[in-house]
Amino acid sequence: MKITEQIWESVQTILQSKLDVSTFESWLKPIAFCDETTADKLIVLVPTKFMKDWVTREYNQVIKDAVLEVIGVVPAIEYRVKPFAVVKEETKSISSSHVVQTKIVEQAQPVHEVAKEEIRSQSQEITKKQQVKPDALLEHSNVLDPRYSFDNFIVGKSNEFSYAAARRIAESEDNTLYNPFFLHGGVGLGKTHLMHSIAHQITEAGSGKKVLYMSSEKFLSQFVQSMRTNDMIEFKERFRTVDVLMIDDVQFLAGKDGTQEEFFHTFNALVDMNKRIILTADKSPHELSGIEDRLRSRLGCGLTTEVHIPGMETRLAILQSKAKNMGIELSNDVAMLLADKISSNVRELEGALNRLIAHSQLTQQEITIDTVHQLLQDLFRNYNKIITLDEIQKKIAEFYNIKMADMHSARRSRDIARPRQIAMYLSKKLTSKSLPEIGRSFGGRDHTTVIHAVKAVDKLQAADPSIAEDLKILENLLSN
Ligand code: ADP
Ligand code: MG
Repeated sequence: MKITEQIWESVQTILQSKLDVSTFESWLKPIAFCDETTADKLIVLVPTKFMKDWVTREYNQVIKDAVLEVIGVVPAIEYRVKPFAVVKEETKSISSSHVVQTKIVEQAQPVHEVAKEEIRSQSQEITKKQQVKPDALLEHSNVLDPRYSFDNFIVGKSNEFSYAAARRIAESEDNTLYNPFFLHGGVGLGKTHLMHSIAHQITEAGSGKKVLYMSSEKFLSQFVQSMRTNDMIEFKERFRTVDVLMIDDVQFLAGKDGTQEEFFHTFNALVDMNKRIILTADKSPHELSGIEDRLRSRLGCGLTTEVHIPGMETRLAILQSKAKNMGIELSNDVAMLLADKISSNVRELEGALNRLIAHSQLTQQEITIDTVHQLLQDLFRNYNKIITLDEIQKKIAEFYNIKMADMHSARRSRDIARPRQIAMYLSKKLTSKSLPEIGRSFGGRDHTTVIHAVKAVDKLQAADPSIAEDLKILENLLSN
């Protein structure tokens, strides 16, 4: 069977449903289909050599399983590294006390998310170099964002405790106070912002403390690289000579045994030497899965705080403050509309604001309620309402005049199977539920049934305008 790009997309859909978000986004999503694929060999392109090694070792089997699910056989799989384009090392110019070890390799499209972040960071590093006091021996493996300071952080009920703890830690000379500090919470709620704020304050105080901030992905990749080059001693020393170690998003370490082990030892060594450790994650240590128990309990043995979703008032204050920083006057009704519609993620709120500002600068028009609706329709749709699978099933059963029970039944006659497929399709489209979750809610069906339904409905609506019309109506009914 010839493997096509569509097949690879289905494979990715399955991978996405099987793996946790961070794993999928970091390692699997960047893998692209290569059109040199033949009937008996699937060829895919991986952004870097490092990723190729890692993916081949860690994910080859899940990829094979997913291919098997889609086409029923397992072909040979070849992983190829995408050709490189530019290699830049501008950070060399930074003063010698700053050990910058990140090498940035920019390559042909698409750039891996991590690489993009690095490239962005690099340019910030250049602008930042003036701001770092020479006596602060700041080692960057990933770069601090100068905008992420305590001054720019809006405090509200959702984050006041975390903010207060972060400030105390940044100001305290006593490293045993709240050590380790474990900050957790959902995506885009200010964890990284607070962590960078602490780093800025410590380094700017001129105490000469050596702060090492890195994402856990970077920790992971350096660990793997050191293993390969047999440089574990240097790796260990790097960490053990810092005063403050910050690792962002430690959930990435989950399930990586060797790295966890090394992290655990480094961690213990640092705590024993009374060094400060600051960590963030999307969940509390207690809830993190794929982390060894002894590491989990060590992670949580200092102070653990959570950043919650900010309330309306805090969201408004964040918007107004960001707009002010960008020199834009934001009318109250526009701010209210944004803060009302985009309620669960500050990063998205900020993204929406940036889009509006860019538009207004390009068109030289003020930001009005109308422009907001016009420009952010797609964003708002997701926020209008949280739609449940149950609601979708009910609405569609009602619409096609079938019994709700038939959404779950094994009956396969077309007048029932078709609405059921449409319900699965809309469940995928309008909710953030995973394929297996959707399958389960339709009478314990398999996720491949859902994939099949999604494809079938896609085809149907292309071929039959009345189905396309039904879908539009249903989508509207459900979203409003
Ligand atoms: P996380 O690390 O929790 O995913 P970030 O720290 O990256 O989130 O925050 C996402 C964006 O939202 C950043 O641009 C950050 O400046 C902004 N942000 C989040 N919370 C606040 C806040 N309380 N005040 C100001 N900006 C915030
Ligand atoms: Mg973050």
